[in-house]
Amino acid sequence: MPFKVTRGQIVARGLSNRCPNCGNRTLFKKGTLFELNRECPACGLKLEKDEGFFLGSMSLNYGITVLFFLVPVLLLYLFSLISGLVASILAGVGAIVVPVLLYRSSRSWWLMNYYVFLPQHLPANRATAPGEDENI
Ligand SMILES: [Zn+2]
Repeated sequence: MPFKVTRGQIVARGLSNRCPNCGNRTLFKKGTLFELNRECPACGLKLEKDEGFFLGSMSLNYGITVLFFLVPVLLLYLFSLISGLVASILAGVGAIVVPVLLYRSSRSWWLMNYYVFLPQHLPANRATAPGEDENI
């Protein structure tokens, strides 16, 4: 039995910072940049599963910052394309600015990652999950 919310929809919603269950832009509290809602105001999906659930998003954020920003700066320095001073300034500023810029997306990507692997945990998919079909 196919899911109501497919993995493709979960990925699309995750990449655009939307609720994986209903697709509304309700992950973060209105008027705030960094405050995540505990649950989706539109559908009630619990966004923070457990305490520490979003530690993974911080690791993801750190990994992306290192891989796509700090390593290229290091390579530019090692190939003598930029000086050590410029590399230090870029790395120092980038190590602060890039994680801040990725904060919202990394939370959404982490939530997306969870539901891509466990789409049956979405409330919208529960009725159609194997063994829980209402028509049986
Ligand atoms: Zn929702």
